[in-house]
Amino acid sequence: MAKAAVIGSGIGGIAAAIRLAVKGYDVTVLETNASFGGKMTQFTLPGGYRFDAGPSLFTLPHLVDELFTLAGRSPQDYFKYQRLPVVTQYFWPDGTRLTAHANASDFAREVEDKLQVPKEKVEAHLQKVARLYHATEATFLQKSLHKVNTYLSPDVLKTLPALPELGLMTTMHAANAQAFSDPRLVQLLDRYATYNGSDPYQAPGTLNLIPHLEFNIGAFYPSGGIYAIAQSLVKLAQELGVEFRYQEPVQEILVKGKHTQGVITNQGFYPAQVVVSNMDIVPTYRKLLPTQPAPETTLKQPRSSSALIFYWGIASSFPQLDLHNIFFSESYQQEFEHIFQKKTVSPDPTVYVNITSKYSPEDAPSGHENWFVMVNVPHNEGQDWNALLTQTRTAVLQKVSKVLGVAIEPLITAERVWDPKGVEADTSSFAGALYGSSSNNKMAAFLRHPNFSSRLKGLYFVGGSVHPGGGIPLCLLSAKIVGDLVPAPSTSVLP
Ligand code: FAD
Repeated sequence: MAKAAVIGSGIGGIAAAIRLAVKGYDVTVLETNASFGGKMTQFTLPGGYRFDAGPSLFTLPHLVDELFTLAGRSPQDYFKYQRLPVVTQYFWPDGTRLTAHANASDFAREVEDKLQVPKEKVEAHLQKVARLYHATEATFLQKSLHKVNTYLSPDVLKTLPALPELGLMTTMHAANAQAFSDPRLVQLLDRYATYNGSDPYQAPGTLNLIPHLEFNIGAFYPSGGIYAIAQSLVKLAQELGVEFRYQEPVQEILVKGKHTQGVITNQGFYPAQVVVSNMDIVPTYRKLLPTQPAPETTLKQPRSSSALIFYWGIASSFPQLDLHNIFFSESYQQEFEHIFQKKTVSPDPTVYVNITSKYSPEDAPSGHENWFVMVNVPHNEGQDWNALLTQTRTAVLQKVSKVLGVAIEPLITAERVWDPKGVEADTSSFAGALYGSSSNNKMAAFLRHPNFSSRLKGLYFVGGSVHPGGGIPLCLLSAKIVGDLVPAPSTSVLP
């Protein structure tokens, strides 16, 4: 049986393993850590608190369902989720509070009530975004941008007429500020740049398609939390015969001539016709392929932002908060200047609070909540993270306590933190970037590494640092693209 080796068990690696197993490969996943998931992991804190460590917002669930269906299973037997009625609760420093209902017209009505922006304008905006998303997703997200066939596909005929409206030549912020005059609505829409670790003052207007996912398709919550995605997919992979080997870091991708031969770990050699790296693309070249020429321009693309996360067990409950909550800064522009130009943390950061115990009461003791409190920060360039953590913790506590009218610090009964250095150490993500390279220039989508090696036969790449980018749905799409590119075992090129 033809063998495939997958390096890393992040969501992209797990999905790729499933697709290759379905295709008929004998798949082994080699993972450095003691368990699967990469950034999508979980932990508990004393006192009965459970946390999803990394991703918290789940969109495009059909991409998970698709893996079960592909394997001939019913998704419902493995993985359940619900659509959120409210996506996010927004709080501004001026006291404005807005509930972002998942239903587009309810959201538009709320924007009219709270921000005095005509609801018809908001509805028309979301409809335009939906139209542009449908015209472009097949070309830009579901296929390799580095294969001629993509540009010969009939889908391109849908994409071409949409190009002038995509805002490629303007920034997200400029496009939003042109569409709306209320600075709070502009800030809300600019925030979607952070969904792939970018800066709305630099990223192209194309990223303004992201709200379509939340308002038109929906935001979802998996039963048991985000980690349930990884758990259910690993269960499926194991049923398909995929072997997961933990605490077994891959040290080298073995190459002979123009073919990959397999991988070498701390425990031996795994021959494989197909090797899929789910390791960040930078260390994949630097550490696993040190003698191969590296695509330097691609590897030098600016990295996405990272995060400082405080995981707090909170001895109280807050009915005014929901699963996703945002406490905005006074000046978004200054905040992003701190992250992307000054490479430090703004003294007045926007704070994101995620509370899974709102939907999974078992994640915190009764009357308590589990707060995942995140601030966007630059990727790791050797900043003094201990000092920045102390400064940011104080700023976060001040802001949230002021808005909620309750002193939060005395309520913290358990605490853990994750910083960019920790993200790098725990997941091998270069510089601790959460989403690979940023989208801070209009060519970024084309400058991400392809999902295959153009020099080495049998070598493929999945995950947040390669096309189409970071975030759960895009990592799943990278695995789909690889699944489509890898030849069936009988026709695969043997080394
Ligand atoms: P990763 O999760 O990066 O995992 C890579 C795996 O490979 C790791 O397990 C690592 O140990 C292993 N590995 C690396 N090198 C080797 C080697 N040499 N040998 C063996 N194993 C190796 N996305 C969303 O969609 N929504 C969100 O709300 C969201 N929020 C986020 C918040 C945080 C704090 C973080 C950290 C991320 C967030 N993301 C979010 C991004 C999302 O988590 C990632 O894009 C996605 O999980 C990355 O998956 P991946 O396939 O790239 O693999």
